[in-house]
Order: sequence, then C-alpha cells, then structure tokens
Amino acid sequence: MTTISSMLGYPYIGENREWKRSLEAFWSGNIGEEQLVDDMQKLRLVHLQKQQAAGIDKIAVGDFTFYDRMLDTAVMFGMIPERYDWQGGNVPLSTYFSMARGNDDVVACEMTKWFDTNYHYIVPEFENRKLSLTENKPLNAYREAKELLGIEGKPVLIGPYTFLKLSKGYSNNETPAFLLHLLPLYEEILKELSAEGVQWIQIDEPILSTSLNQDEMKTVQEIYKQLKTAAPELKFMLQTYFDSIEWYKETVELPVDGIGFDFVHGLQKNVSNIKTLGFPADKVLGVGIIDGRNIWRANLREKIDLVHTLSSVVPSERMWIQPSCSLQHVPVTTRSEQALEATIKNALSFADEKLHEIRSITASLNGDEEAILAEIEDSVAACQRLSELPERNREDVKTAIHNISTKDSERNLPFTKRKEAQQSAFSLPLLPTTTIGSFPQTPEIRRTRTKWRKGEITNEQYEAFIKENIQSWIDIQEEIGLDVFVHGEFERTDMVEYFGEKLDGFTFTEKAWVVSYGSRCVKPPVIYGDVAFNQPMTVKESVYAQSLTDKPVKGMLTGPVTILNWSFVRNDISLEEVANQLALALRNEVAALESAGIHMIQVDEPALREGLPLKKERWNDYLDWAVNAFRITTAAVKETTQIHTHMCYCDFNDFIDSISALDADVISIETSRSHGELVHAFNEFHYDKGIGLGVYDIHSPRVPTTDEMASIIDKGLEVLSPDQFWVNPDCGLKTRNHEETIASLHNMVSAAVQKREQLQVLQADH
Ligand code: GLN
Ligand code: ZN
Repeated sequence: MTTISSMLGYPYIGENREWKRSLEAFWSGNIGEEQLVDDMQKLRLVHLQKQQAAGIDKIAVGDFTFYDRMLDTAVMFGMIPERYDWQGGNVPLSTYFSMARGNDDVVACEMTKWFDTNYHYIVPEFENRKLSLTENKPLNAYREAKELLGIEGKPVLIGPYTFLKLSKGYSNNETPAFLLHLLPLYEEILKELSAEGVQWIQIDEPILSTSLNQDEMKTVQEIYKQLKTAAPELKFMLQTYFDSIEWYKETVELPVDGIGFDFVHGLQKNVSNIKTLGFPADKVLGVGIIDGRNIWRANLREKIDLVHTLSSVVPSERMWIQPSCSLQHVPVTTRSEQALEATIKNALSFADEKLHEIRSITASLNGDEEAILAEIEDSVAACQRLSELPERNREDVKTAIHNISTKDSERNLPFTKRKEAQQSAFSLPLLPTTTIGSFPQTPEIRRTRTKWRKGEITNEQYEAFIKENIQSWIDIQEEIGLDVFVHGEFERTDMVEYFGEKLDGFTFTEKAWVVSYGSRCVKPPVIYGDVAFNQPMTVKESVYAQSLTDKPVKGMLTGPVTILNWSFVRNDISLEEVANQLALALRNEVAALESAGIHMIQVDEPALREGLPLKKERWNDYLDWAVNAFRITTAAVKETTQIHTHMCYCDFNDFIDSISALDADVISIETSRSHGELVHAFNEFHYDKGIGLGVYDIHSPRVPTTDEMASIIDKGLEVLSPDQFWVNPDCGLKTRNHEETIASLHNMVSAAVQKREQLQVLQADH
C-alpha cells in the first residue's frame, strides 16, 4: 500500500470566469438552457482532466455546481419551499434559479456565510413536508467522470448533520422529525452508489469543527451508525475542515473508514489530539496540509516534515495527502498572472499549483524524494526569497508596532464629555439624517474610470469628472435636506481595493477571482508586505465636497479589520499584527482628514463580524484585537471630531458589547429587514452612543414610503432615546439608480422631520 493523494473539491469558475459568463448569459436570455448545460459540462470535464493530469489519486466528483452546493443538496432532496413552482419529479433549472435569485413573483431563499469564509450559501428551508430524492447527483457525477474520462471518482456529499444544522425552518425539538425525513434519502443515495461499485465517498461535516454539545454529538453518532448500516460496503471518508474538531475521541470512533482533518487551520489541536489520543488502526487519516483558503506556496520541506511527525501515530500507507478544504476558496492558477513581481508570483500557489504540491508531497512519502528534490528545494527557496523582501521587513513599521501603547487606543475624553462638545460644535437637530457613503455608481462613472485606467483620459480629466459628480450630489443632498452629507465615493471601485492600491504592502492580481455568492466573484487584494501609509488617500475628495457646503461632510474610510478580512493575507505574522499595521496606516489618514478640516470621519467595518472564529471560546481573543485595531485607527482625534462607523448586518446581538467598545461616537447599522430582533438587543444591553438604524433596505429598487420609515423610527425610539438616534438607509447606495435614491431619501427625510416635530411638541408639553 502506498500513500494516496486526494482532492476535496476544485474551483468551478474556470480560468477566465467562464462559469460566471455562461450563467449570466443564460440569465439574461443570451444563451438557452441546452447551451448552459453544455458549457457547464465542458468546464467540469476540464477541471477533472486537470486533476487527472496532475496525478491525483482520489478526485472529488459532484463538487461542481450551477450556483451553490447547499442549494444543490436541498434540491436533490426535493426540499423546495412551497412558494416555488414545483410539482414533484425532476426540478427544472428555472425553479432552481428562482430559489437562488428570486423572480418577479417570489423572493429568493436566504443566503448566508459558509462558516468563517467569504463564500455565501443558500439556506435550505425545511417545511416539515415529505422529502424525496429528485436525482442522485453524486451518482450522476461519478458516472460522468468514469464514462467520459475513465476517472474512478470519489463522490462528495454535504453530510447530513452539517446540512441539517445549516438549514432553517425547524425548532430544536423538531430535529428528530427533520432527520426522519432526511436520513432515508441519504441511505438511498449511498445504497445506489454502493450498487454502482463506488469505492469511496467523501462526506463533508465541517460542522464538527464548531462547538457542538454532547447531545448534538450523540445525534452525529446515531446518524453515522444508521448510514453505515445502510451501505456497509461503501467506504466513507468523513471530512472535517476550517478548524480542529471538538469531539475528537467520539469522532474517530464513528463507524466510518477514514477521517479528514484540517492541518492548516486547526493544526496544533488536531496534531496534539492525534498524538495524545491516538488514531484507530482501521481508518485512513486525511491529512489536509495544503492551505485551501490562502494563496501562498507551501514550504514542501516543512509539510513533509509534518507528515513524518504524524506518521509516528499513523503509518503513511494509511494517509491521504490533501488540501485543508475544497479549493473553491482559492483562485484557479498563477499562470494567468503576467504582471506580478517575480518573487511574489513565485511564492504563490493557487488551485492548479496546489494540485502539484499535493502530488509532490505524496510522491515523497512514497519514496520518490529523489525525483522531487529539486521541487522541494525550489519551494523552500521561493518562501525564503519572499520572507527576505524588504517590503516584508520594514524597520519603521516594526518600530511603530512595537511602540503602540494603550493610550493610542483611548480618546482624550470619555463619550459623555465628547457628546457635549460635539453637540455644541455641530448643533445637529434631533434625529439627524445622513447616508452611508456611496451614491449611485452609474455606468458612466464606471466607463470613465476604465478609460482613465487605460490612459484614454488624463488624470486631470478624470479628477474633474469625479468633482462634477461630487458637486452634483452635494447639490442633491442640499435639496433633499439631509443634515450630514457624504461626498459619494465616486472615485472608488471597491472599498478595499481603493485603499489597498494606495497603501504600502499590497499587491493586486489580474485574474485571482473567487466566488463570493452566486455568480458574484471577488478579486481580493494581496497583503504581502508590511502595511504602511504613504500618501493621503481620501483627503482631496472630502475637502472638495466640504468646500461646497456648510453642512458637515463625513470623511469616509474602510476600517482595518474589514480590509484584513477581505484580502488574502500573508501568513508569516499574526492577523493581529497585520490589523495593527493597517490601523496605524489608517490612523495617519484620519489625522490628515482632521487637519484638513473634516470633523466627522466614518470608518466602515462591515466585515468585522465575518472574522469571528468558528469556536466561541476564541471570540474574545479576536474581538479584543479587532476592536483595538479600530480604536487605534480612530482614537487620536480631538473630542469635537465625531467618529462614525458602519456595519451592514444586524445579527450582532451576541457581541453588542464589543460594538460599544469600539467607542465610535455614532454607528449606523442595517435593520430594516429584521427590525424586531435588533430592537430586542437594545432592551438587554444599554447602548449609550449615537446610533442610526437603517430605515430602508437598499438592496431593493423599491422606494419605501414615508410612513413605513416613520414606523421603523417609532420602533427604534421604543428602546433608544431620541437624542442618540440617527436616521439613515441600511447601507451605501452605489447599486441604486438616481431616481430611486433621490425619491427614497426624500421620503426618509420627511419621515425624520415628521418624527422630529412630534418629539418637539412632546418636549414642549413637558
Ligand atoms: N461606505 C460604504 C458605502 O456606502 C459602506 C459599504 C458597506 O458597508 N459595505 O458604500
Ligand atoms: Zn453596509
């Protein structure tokens, strides 16, 4: 027996985002269903062939999707909410896509983040109705790979417990009922796979990396007992990822044939579990050592050493060498990058390069060390050269980080004192109105930026164009009667990229796209060096906007934690240290804005929550440094400078004290879609600072009425005091058009004025 190489899943978007293009062409009616299905198959086969050519022994099949794998699984089980058009039997693509995206008559299913990644999945809805297998997707994928490419694939399934836990529509005590519907379908799938002669399947249970309680673990044990009994011949690889697992002993005793662990994100704990508690002699160990979530080339020598350490417990013949998780979270190949600096390019590894890393480590374990010696040395040298880059070893940054002291994260006065000072400085009315930052990014704006980037128009022309837009929206804001203005962010494509391009320590790729949700792809900046400030980034636009009006114009920055969480980050220093570098750099920008006469500064942190670790026990550690980074960014200003922040989600009941600890004078947050829940949070926690509850949903083109928004303000005022309450939309308006935006803001201001007048009458009465 030899060590085996294995894949958990491969990115489906294609080297040139062919996947996205086909989907969008289909949605807009430019290609038909047949063409779409055909395009998708071609892409799928190319991906399988690449893995085959790389010499991977166990290739995952069934990892490809037309939209999302959780949605695929729900559809496979006929778990289609009643509001969609479906009469049983095969599920048409139109139904599938209405669940994903909604249509004129029916809203889409909810979408939320896949564990602690930036990928969003479709949330399955359980309606306590009979489920039935509409298609055996893993079996079809297996047959396709075998018949067309001669690949003996390893079908992948999302495991029942993960699927159940991530679904909604049932209460805790309905779990057994849900399982009663679900498990027979899993059994059916497994039996059919077994009858087909499939050898191994991969069952993904990332939920085992979260904090499960004892009862939950019991349920997992029962599930696997039942499934194994149904298909005793079939070999199960139970795959965990994203962190170490909680119930190690119980998990390794499950009736499965192999267990895969993440030896990147849960490295220490998983290794120590194996060393101290052992690993059963009848099971295969899936060694996930190539980082499936980051883009850095592996030091093969270190990886091989790690495998050797593990082999003191598990002989290498019982190991599968694999990535830490599916490679869908990394871009396709570094081959597409023509412009990157050589040292950096050489130190990167995307999906295709990772295939080779896995192959090489496997070869080395199988005694082929000689053959891959050069490759090992290459990898060590590439990592070494990266680590020696001057940009990664800046003394000035090191000293600045070293000199951070607690007073750097303290404002000069406590909030109550600042509040008084700011009230007299700004004399804002009750329920001040404002927006979140961006105004519509029209096609004209995007076109003009593209021209400028291509050098078709000069810097001066581009700047003049941006100024015109600022001017026109300052006029609009005056006309609408808002109290606090913004400049509109017309100069930004993306709230992270814009800053990354101007700070030291970042680089950018050409094609390193990853899926964020649906067909939406993002191309995260790469933080490869020490981050430092080198030039003012937002001052010009803010100062210009402020020069046009007597109303305060908010300066507008993206916060350190959001920049960190939405980038690919170097992995040689801690995230905390990178966050502090970012914080110090942005602190300079805040100072520059303040000394240029900008007295309200908003530092957006929409991604703060995303960084929360999977395990609750680690939340505090993260929140401590994340909150501190925000405070370092903002604390140096005068008491009369008002710091705002913005977060676009409302599920922060569980960390509202950390939100308060940011010590921002004003926060604006999304609430319009889930009002009740948020208001509830303020009953429990006394929040004293300024707060703007989003009074309308900016994701929809609908123009909300004055009354609707007035009633949301009323609800907020039940738990918050009028002198802390701000009125604003849920988020930035860049995706909306002019008319919608202006009409909605007019109504919003009317609602605020109406409420303000009522409050004044009330106060006069007292
Ligand atoms: N200031 C940003 C905007 O208005 C905030 C975006 C966000 O929260 N994602 O676009
Ligand atoms: Zn937002």
